[in-house]
Amino acid sequence: MDEIKIFAPATVANISCGFDVLGCCLDAIGDEMIIRKSPAKGVKITKIIGENLPLETDKNVAGVAALALLDKLNFNENFGFEIEIYKNIKPGSGVGSSAASAAGVVFAINELLGKPFTKLELIEFAREGERLACGSPIADNVAPAIFGGFTLVKSTNPLKIIELPTLKGLYATIIHPQIEIKTEDSRSILPSKIELSEAVKQWANLGSLVHALHTNDYNLFSESLTDYIVEPYRSKLIPDFDKVKNNALQAGALGCGISGSGPSIFTFSKDKQIAKNVSVAISEVYKKIDVPFHIYITKINTQGIKIL
Ligand code: ADP
Repeated sequence: MDEIKIFAPATVANISCGFDVLGCCLDAIGDEMIIRKSPAKGVKITKIIGENLPLETDKNVAGVAALALLDKLNFNENFGFEIEIYKNIKPGSGVGSSAASAAGVVFAINELLGKPFTKLELIEFAREGERLACGSPIADNVAPAIFGGFTLVKSTNPLKIIELPTLKGLYATIIHPQIEIKTEDSRSILPSKIELSEAVKQWANLGSLVHALHTNDYNLFSESLTDYIVEPYRSKLIPDFDKVKNNALQAGALGCGISGSGPSIFTFSKDKQIAKNVSVAISEVYKKIDVPFHIYITKINTQGIKIL
């Protein structure tokens, strides 16, 4: 195989109670990428359609992640790789735009080379792309992009990822208000110390959410989707966040929170019809105050990156 075309999915990190550790993979939002072997050595990004992102290998997360993989192999064959990126996930939207490119490229090169690496090893390389995008090698978006479904980052050093089951039939509605929030701003607004009583509530929720996924318990899943620690700070950066959340819950959503570092907001619903109702209810909020937005309804993607 000399060329591969893949779907690199968007992901939701944090999921209310799992700041920096939980993530899940989406089905209807994602980029496409073509990666091919080329006669020229090295890694070259030849095309980016849809967004204005750097073509230089060392400035694009896809290039950096690819080089991390090839470095590990001490790659010295008489061919290299060309990358084309067809971007649908807006950078800085909070649904893992950089993670999709980083995870997508290492998955694809691994396929072209006959799968020398495990999925866990691929996450290590993709994290190097995340280091470029946000300054630290976070794994909470690249892990669900590569494994699919819900994932938990048990530890980052050494890297340990736990694959969690997904509630059957679960849908997400994601709304992306077209405002810019810099990841560094949404990080710097957070406290460095938290109240023990708040932490107790948060880890009770995280444990409950994991249990709910294992037992397919929608009620417990819904009750666990509360963020006592991060959302009170970050929600101030998102216009009318409380109204969006209120409308989502009124329309039947199981929960609602900030996707990654925002500004996208995720909601979960028991089925597609409720997810559609939620979509109408939350769109109303931004229509009223004239904030442009994109909205998506999607299943949870249990496969992760897909070969097209
Ligand atoms: P997101 O959470 O949506 O991934 P980030 O703010 O973490 O958003 O990452 C976007 C940053 O990464 C932007 O500064 C963007 O220029 C940079 N970047 C570099 N390469 C890519 C790429 N291939 N896809 C998306 N973003 C990229």
